[in-house]
Amino acid sequence: MATGKKLMRAIRVFEFGGPEVLKLQSDVAIPFPKDNQVLIKVHACGVNPVETYIRSGTYSRKPLLPYTPGSDVAGVIQAVGNNVSAFKKGDRVFTSGTLTGGYAEYAVAADHTVYTLPEKLDFKQGAAIGVPYFTAYRALFHSAHVRAGESVLVHGASGGVGLAACQIARAYGLKVLGTAGTEEGQKIVLQNGAHEVFNHREVNYIDKIKKSVGESGINVIIEMLANVNLSKDLNLLSRGGRVVVVGSRGPIEITPRDTMAKESSIIGVSLYSSTKEEFQQYAAALQAGMEIGWLRPVIGSQYPLEKVAQAHENIIYGSGATGKMILLLQ
Ligand code: NAP
Repeated sequence: MATGKKLMRAIRVFEFGGPEVLKLQSDVAIPFPKDNQVLIKVHACGVNPVETYIRSGTYSRKPLLPYTPGSDVAGVIQAVGNNVSAFKKGDRVFTSGTLTGGYAEYAVAADHTVYTLPEKLDFKQGAAIGVPYFTAYRALFHSAHVRAGESVLVHGASGGVGLAACQIARAYGLKVLGTAGTEEGQKIVLQNGAHEVFNHREVNYIDKIKKSVGESGINVIIEMLANVNLSKDLNLLSRGGRVVVVGSRGPIEITPRDTMAKESSIIGVSLYSSTKEEFQQYAAALQAGMEIGWLRPVIGSQYPLEKVAQAHENIIYGSGATGKMILLLQ
């Protein structure tokens, strides 16, 4: 797989554990693209919460050790393997997955997980599309089956998936409510598709949402922290309402009866349960959003590769998201 000659800087994980197991190495062999694969010179890579769960070794999916984390890179095609017709050296691209890991100066990806990055988006924005936008699209359309004219509460709207959900939902004609934990986060949520925003750190914010939506309730809730909010969500829903669980970090007690009178549903979503065809379908809708201009990723905190451990610490324990967290490689 490796050329054995050219070397790069990359993060390597040799054992599962805390952020300190993320080791920066400067003598990692640049990988070589095989059939239907491309080699990308990485300019930026998105940091997703799931990469911290995988690193800690507690996630259902465990990579073989050692490995390099990171799936959402943006950069330039450096080389293509055999049978690759969609891309050539020099093309600007972003990915929804890599084979060798994105926290690195170069990454190999299967060509069906690589997409053209339009000129109007920079590499940082390209690194914010993969997991967040594909997940938000799947949650809204595949899981919740949203229809134009419905209302959606993006419960946790200031981060990667939340802002993506706000932009997509607004573009497709939904009434969008969002929440954030800081004033700056609230402002960004309003600038990115939400009609109204609430602060999920305020004690009485659920009452404020109830007051705003009235008796009829909310049609859909895209939930980023179900272990905290699921019980409250069930009381906010309309008849036939749906809560889509995108994120959850522990158990919660709910009253199942809350689903009965309104015949509401709780639906889990898993991006990686999507088929290849679904990924292509979501990519087509998202490419249209980039062309038209409603898909505009907002970048929050940015870290160099040397500070990756800090990034992992902050994405879980940070004081308030203001967009998508990324690593800068170039
Ligand atoms: P992120 O960028 O770190 O954003 C986290 C979001 O959660 C922020 O908007 C944050 O708001 C919000 N939040 C914090 N406390 C909250 C509360 N009490 N109630 C509601 N929201 C709260 O993370 P992300 O990339 O958007 O991912 C969000 C979650 O979805 C993570 O748990 C991630 O693992 C999960 N996820 C799941 C899938 C899937 O396939 N199921 C795919 C992607 C992501 P403030 O910072 O403003 O307080």
